Amino acid sequence: MLCLKSNMTANLLDGLNPEQLAAVTLPHQSALILAGAGSGKTRVLTTRIAWLIQTGQVSPLGLLAVTFTNKAAKEMLTRLTAMLPINTRGMWVGTFHGLSNRLLRTHYRDAGLPQLFQILDTADQLSAVKRLLKALDVDTEKYEPKKVQYFINGNKEAGLRPEHVEVFDPYTRRLVEFYAAYDAQCNRDGVVDFSELLLRAYELLARNDMLRTHYQERFRYILVDEFQDTNRLQYRWLKMFAGEDSALLAVGDDDQSIYAFRGAHSGNMNEFQRDYAGDNVIKLEQNYRSHGNILDAANALITQNATRLGKNLWTSEGKGEPIRVFEAYNDQEEASFIVEEVKALHRDGTALVDMALLYRSNAQSRVLEHALFSAGVPYRVYGGLRFFERQEIKHALAYLRLLANPDDDGAFSRIVNFPTRGIGARTLEQLSDAAQAANTSLWQAARAQFDPAKAVKGLPGFVALMGAMQDATQGLPLPEAIEHVLHMSGLAAHYQAEKEGADRLENLNELINAATVFSNDPEAMAELDEVGGPLASFLAHAALEAGDHQAGAGSDALQLMTVHAAKGLEFHAVFVGGLEEGLFPHEQSMNEKDGIEEERRLMYVAITRARRRLYLSHAQSRMLHGQVRYGIPSRFLDELPSELLKLVNAKRNSAVPASHDSYAAPKSNARNNTSPWRIGMNVRHAKFGLGVVVNVEGQGEDTRVQINFGAANGMKWLALAYAKLEVA
Ligand code: ATP
Ligand code: MG
Repeated sequence: MLCLKSNMTANLLDGLNPEQLAAVTLPHQSALILAGAGSGKTRVLTTRIAWLIQTGQVSPLGLLAVTFTNKAAKEMLTRLTAMLPINTRGMWVGTFHGLSNRLLRTHYRDAGLPQLFQILDTADQLSAVKRLLKALDVDTEKYEPKKVQYFINGNKEAGLRPEHVEVFDPYTRRLVEFYAAYDAQCNRDGVVDFSELLLRAYELLARNDMLRTHYQERFRYILVDEFQDTNRLQYRWLKMFAGEDSALLAVGDDDQSIYAFRGAHSGNMNEFQRDYAGDNVIKLEQNYRSHGNILDAANALITQNATRLGKNLWTSEGKGEPIRVFEAYNDQEEASFIVEEVKALHRDGTALVDMALLYRSNAQSRVLEHALFSAGVPYRVYGGLRFFERQEIKHALAYLRLLANPDDDGAFSRIVNFPTRGIGARTLEQLSDAAQAANTSLWQAARAQFDPAKAVKGLPGFVALMGAMQDATQGLPLPEAIEHVLHMSGLAAHYQAEKEGADRLENLNELINAATVFSNDPEAMAELDEVGGPLASFLAHAALEAGDHQAGAGSDALQLMTVHAAKGLEFHAVFVGGLEEGLFPHEQSMNEKDGIEEERRLMYVAITRARRRLYLSHAQSRMLHGQVRYGIPSRFLDELPSELLKLVNAKRNSAVPASHDSYAAPKSNARNNTSPWRIGMNVRHAKFGLGVVVNVEGQGEDTRVQINFGAANGMKWLALAYAKLEVA
């Protein structure tokens, strides 16, 4: 038996390099693994968990592991069960949000929450802020709801409640008042937003000695992946769980820190060293993911950043293929090129799931999706408009939320008159006043006013409907309950009658499927079903889920996502599109301190997702947010050593797609113009550098050209008679 066990341990540790082995088998002490992309950080972390359990040093329930996304957490559990035949039920492996949710559900009373508290996602939160500002009669030109939301979240993520925010001016004072009123509204409604999940969990442990001691003694091992992207509150959250006897392992890569814009605090690495790891810093330098050319490109790019802890990666694999660079005439041509290449790779045996299309901005996906759809290539988009964020799904969920918690005013407001029941704005205003006067929720106020027994129409009808729905769904399995809700609420009939409602109806059916899948997934249930029953856990799942239960999950499909969402993943072939100044690097970053360095790290993340084949493309013009933009190639292309790159041409012979006309810029005289300058041409100017011609006007000596010189120098009109322009 013993022999068998040590054999298995050997299997677990097989193939690790000496540094990885040292990290996996660290004694009971804290350490920081600081290492570049693809060096096996996540693998080390997962293997360490397996090793600790297998060698009996800790029970599965005695460790806490935090990763960045639900996808990564699931992946970790899958890898774990592949290594060890254990039951992962009840294990604390998840995201900061998911684990906070679990903690708060378990100790809802101590946390001052109703048992069935609901989670507001970002869009719900914005609606809640709008509702508040309306109730307070605030001028939303002066105090934009989005800014108020940003202010609230920023402070929560810094661990600051309204009374702790420093106020220097009247404007901020107002914002703080809104923050306090918003918190009061959430408490009344029994809802928490994403940042509140973390802050509540943190405060719960900070305040409650008994609970804190319990968890600190329980978690002898704490492991965190992607540590470089934690914010201040998350770090403080981790520290709450760490007791005298807890060994912490943080793994991260400063070169992949890409969430500064959301408050990630790169200083956490230093603080972690000071607080826990000391000199126990392990570096991993061998990359197991990518072929040499890809790795060399990534290394060359990232050395351009000044603020780095500094490390280099090497691989024992060969150089592999060159990196393919494609210059498209416009975004449609870029998309067709990508589709053709994907099809060719697929024909040669690469599974679609092993290929990814990465882009800087979600808005880029539409053209790509269209091309894929037309070509019949199955694909999945991650993190776009998530399934649970669609309007019809939100409506359905609001009915469910109200059933779970009648005091949820956000849910009430969303559906009280949807589908329309002839309830007017005036009635709702009166109701809102009555609720305010009696200090109750909208639902309670409505209940108090009407005798539901006799009601059919209007507000009384709604009260009666919810009562009937409550009775009808009592005790039913989740999918059946949802089916009832869809019909009784009138949502199904509403979308059936709508001309464009077929898709929405299908999505509503998909919601029933999602509930079925959820109810049959013991892990999902175990993760969330601490208290509150299936409905509450399903709703929490809907708020926290990153869209993994979309239709078609699990089948072979090309993967589409932003570079941010691709963190930690790897693919045989990766396409990075839209490498143009202003898009990637993004124009917003140009005004921010260290903005370009963060964009470069993002590019580093993009490149290092590829195992074997990497395509980089840019287009001379593209349609974005309803406007044609003319772009010059991204500086990041210039920063890659040219010997690693190979320029490729589209396989089709027509260089310019038929639809190109629709993109023709301001119908200038360019067409009948005899001048040699054409739209789309690359030019060089002695002072402004490289640019693209976007417009031509006038004739002969009077010719003027408009040129996009990129983010640094912007758009300029130049008179050709004077400007020293040359073709680049
Ligand atoms: P990222 O920074 O992108 O998150 P990472 O450092 O977490 O990367 P992993 O995802 O753990 O890297 O590993 C990258 C790839 O290398 C994975 O496919 C992993 O299985 C493989 N790998 C890691 N270590 C070894 C090893 N010793 N032998 C063979 N393959 C390895
Ligand atoms: Mg990783």
